[in-house]
Amino acid sequence: MLLRPAITLTMTGPPLAGAAVRVSGNRVTGVGAGLSPSAGEEVIDLPDCVLLPGLINTHCHLDYTGFKGAIFPGLPFSEWVRRINALKRGLTVSDWLAAIARGFQLLMNSGCTTVVNIESFPEALPLLPRPPLRTWWCVEMIDARSRGPADEALTMALEFFRRARGWPGGGGLSPHAPYTASVWLYRRALRVAQREGLLLATHVAESVEEQEMFLHGQGAMFDFFKNIGRNMDDCGQGSALSHLLEDGLLDERSLVAHLNYLQEYDYQLLKKTPLPVTHCPRCHAYFGHARFPYERLREAGCRVSLGTDSLASNDRLDLRAELREFRREYPDVSAGECLRMVTTVPAEQIGKAGELGVIVSGALADLVALPLPMDSDPYQAVICSRDEPVFFMVDGKCHK
Ligand SMILES: [Zn+2]
Repeated sequence: MLLRPAITLTMTGPPLAGAAVRVSGNRVTGVGAGLSPSAGEEVIDLPDCVLLPGLINTHCHLDYTGFKGAIFPGLPFSEWVRRINALKRGLTVSDWLAAIARGFQLLMNSGCTTVVNIESFPEALPLLPRPPLRTWWCVEMIDARSRGPADEALTMALEFFRRARGWPGGGGLSPHAPYTASVWLYRRALRVAQREGLLLATHVAESVEEQEMFLHGQGAMFDFFKNIGRNMDDCGQGSALSHLLEDGLLDERSLVAHLNYLQEYDYQLLKKTPLPVTHCPRCHAYFGHARFPYERLREAGCRVSLGTDSLASNDRLDLRAELREFRREYPDVSAGECLRMVTTVPAEQIGKAGELGVIVSGALADLVALPLPMDSDPYQAVICSRDEPVFFMVDGKCHK
């Protein structure tokens, strides 16, 4: 198949005008101005369109797609957690499956072809159909009350990954956060992830209350977890991130969401182990967090990609809206650099550098075309776009 867009964003060099892109099977097999169709080859003309690698969302909870507008913004973080737990208790398995399917549709409508999805309902895993997007299913693990649910989640996750072996994407484990997952659980998750080649994804240093709990052993989150019987011996002992890094509970492949509230010594530790980080700009704004420390993380050597988080703390699952919010926070970061935060950077973070997030020979054929004004910077035009893709391909299969 030969695609002929007006402009191609390879993400490895400058935008190409008038180039064609050849797809054979599930791979890109040629990019350039000199390509012409061979006999019988299907040709798709995409005039007035920019062709780009499908966008990669490194932090999403598709389970919560039905919760749009259910929790009013402005609540303290621990109260938000209480509300979402109550909402989750009211869901049936068919609600979860419908939420996941709807979430996929919203991602596709905005040009996303790969998602790292945190899955908090392991009982739904056996019922999941093959996903339309390349999906890393990161099964959430929590042992704040007892070890039973985390053991069960791990068993179901490993069974599910065997069944899903032929699906586009991969598997992952997600010890939820340092306040809900013990040192024992993080260690176990990391060991299994390393052994099985799984992604490890977690939430760290998201809220002021989490910071209060670990730094000072006080605050609403501290009180909540103390009341439910969590062992609080790790509180008042320094930041959560320093516990995780000093105890070797994360490695340089562990994908960490948020890192909104860090101490000076955290940055020194990150210099030794520069973690892959996901920033969720619109969720960040929803909670009214302090400014995200993008420059400090970059100085420490961390690569930062973007995620949407879920519709329980966002009103859309559209990485272009996240890019627009990020540009409001950081107007000095160029449009091209911003677009790399949803293409090449996340591809590297999930171990797919050169295969995803780029249009080069040998890359996986995950491609989208957006109708765009041709008189503007194409990177900026992608960020400003609100249209659905006119062409959408995952793993060499056209969905549009
Ligand atoms: Zn999250």
